Amino acid sequence: MSESTFMGVERDRIDWSPRIDFSKCNDCMDCVKFCPHQVFEVDENAKPKLKVKNPNNCVVFCRACAKTCGPDAITFPDKTKTTKMIKATRKAEKAAEKEAKANE
Ligand code: SF4
Ligand code: SF4
Repeated sequence: MSESTFMGVERDRIDWSPRIDFSKCNDCMDCVKFCPHQVFEVDENAKPKLKVKNPNNCVVFCRACAKTCGPDAITFPDKTKTTKMIKATRKAEKAAEKEAKANE
């Protein structure tokens, strides 16, 4: 089990990370310099150079790097939908735990 959880749900089960619109991205790498969580990776030999290498390192509901992006190339999932998904996942996990205990 992952040690990292958010609202009682394992981080790996939460879909929250930056989405890059490469038709807007200008390879300035300001987002990479800004984020302290090693979410991004730069490969100078690849095209595009920027990659969201570790999406689960992104802090759930953080959107800070989007503010550093001049051409507005960074977006995030819908916060309300993500919150609902987290709550539904937690509820399902609790129900599964309860059922497992009842069957012990
Ligand atoms: S800050 Fe925006 S334009 Fe610059 S590398 Fe990141 S996504 Fe691309
Ligand atoms: S949203 Fe925050 S944690 Fe996630 S990549 Fe951007 S700066 Fe890093």
